[in-house]
Amino acid sequence: MKRNPDDNFAKLLDIDKRLAEEYGRPRWRSHGPPLEVLIGTVLSQHTSDVNTARAFASLRKTFPKWQDVISSPTFEVANAIRSGGLANIKAPRIQNILRAIEGETGILSLDCLHPQTLDRSRMWLEALPGVGPKTASCVLLFSLGFPAMPVDTHVHRVSRRLGLIAPVTSANDAHRTLDRLTGPDRDLIYGFHMNLIAHGRAVCKARSPACSACVLNDICPSGAPSIHRRVNL
Ligand code: SF4
Repeated sequence: MKRNPDDNFAKLLDIDKRLAEEYGRPRWRSHGPPLEVLIGTVLSQHTSDVNTARAFASLRKTFPKWQDVISSPTFEVANAIRSGGLANIKAPRIQNILRAIEGETGILSLDCLHPQTLDRSRMWLEALPGVGPKTASCVLLFSLGFPAMPVDTHVHRVSRRLGLIAPVTSANDAHRTLDRLTGPDRDLIYGFHMNLIAHGRAVCKARSPACSACVLNDICPSGAPSIHRRVNL
């Protein structure tokens, strides 16, 4: 997506640099084939990374072929992913997604996306049942290596507090805004995404952000005054 020259890209680069000094600079690597990443992302909704990994491993062990997930009773799929939480919601969602993919492509694979452009791949993914901008962006970035910014709860909260997106911007709308702001550099997007999450978990927490210990305090419009800021003033 073309970057809007009016956007505050310099501020984003400053934030990115500071977060990289704090948490390191994660390098992009493929997280797996697109279908695996898609199903893994569905499983990750409202649960931890550990529970997601457990649920995914159990699903693959119980149903070694994706076709088995479709043809099995939904309660069996739910039982296989129970450790990931919300199993009774996620199981039919996964089955519906797989059925839609098979209906569209004739096979249970998303390899058809490899030669596509970012916009076409996004459109295709978001047309699948239960797949929104965040899930699509995870597949686009983590598997296919497209410059797409997934906006999870941490990215959404920290971006709003930092003024990268307007306070009223929904998580869904934030995808378009942040994609435009970050531009076409996949490696920048990947590192920035991972470090915003790290910062959201460690410092800029939902209920009690540790502003006084935050390396972004002096450029954050939402930050409570820090000790350093007070000393410098
Ligand atoms: S200064 Fe506070 S609100 Fe701003 S990014 Fe840091 S922890 Fe979050």
